Amino acid sequence: MSSDPPPTRPVFLPGAAADVPAEPTDHCLMVADGKLLVRPDGDFPRVADVPGRATEPDLVPLGTLDGVPVWAVAWETDDATLGRWLGWRELASGLTEPLAALAGRALQVVTWRRSHRYCGACTAELADVPGEHARRCPDCQLYVPMQLSPAVLVAIRRPGPPGAPEQLLLVRHSYGSTEVWALVAGFVEAGETLEQAVHREVAEEVGLRVDRLVYFGSQPWAMSGPSVVLAGFTAYCPDPMSEPVVDGRELTQARWFPLDALPEALPPTYSISRWLVESVRVPATT
Ligand SMILES: [Zn+2]
Repeated sequence: MSSDPPPTRPVFLPGAAADVPAEPTDHCLMVADGKLLVRPDGDFPRVADVPGRATEPDLVPLGTLDGVPVWAVAWETDDATLGRWLGWRELASGLTEPLAALAGRALQVVTWRRSHRYCGACTAELADVPGEHARRCPDCQLYVPMQLSPAVLVAIRRPGPPGAPEQLLLVRHSYGSTEVWALVAGFVEAGETLEQAVHREVAEEVGLRVDRLVYFGSQPWAMSGPSVVLAGFTAYCPDPMSEPVVDGRELTQARWFPLDALPEALPPTYSISRWLVESVRVPATT
């Protein structure tokens, strides 16, 4: 009787401590203009690949991948002689987790460092806090941590006609990928729980009331801002006659689709949005 070894996948542990010096074999994600360098062999670079070997203060610790330190370095230009420079969307569609999350973290950390250089209270130049992704003002002591923006998205179902499958509410946005049928989503406001944010966004965007809100999962998201974490939910609209009303500004359309006849143009397969849709889809009956 043969037993295959269980499938293994890399383990990425985020971290911000640089308590050991960088080794040439450590991973080093190079970031330029919102894109990451991929070597000609398809891997992310190692420290030894960085031209001129970036000096230590320029290497930003990201954590460890299977115990090997991972660093990020901001690069001036997307020099094509070094390899291919890819945005997060292209990377995430081709990488397995946790490499997509690691790529997103590199982009977010480098972007945050570039956009948080001065104190927002007194305009002095901020200093790094050792061991953290945070900066502190040397003059007024303002503490500036790297912040995440939480956002919610929700897959809403309602009963179908008698004998027919339930239906899923999908919406089209007036910006971005306007053809894609997506889920109701939005940022969490200060002072609001994730659940309250779902109810508010659903009411604002499509004018519906939902219940049976259930947490589904979450995903770090590097696309729609520097540091977003998406929290996905499922919910139910008990009234089979409930119809969505869109404002025409943020959303252009909202429609109920039978769960066995969802549209082709759905969010990308690496997104929690798509995972939510697939979790409620039922096979088509022919
Ligand atoms: Zn200050």
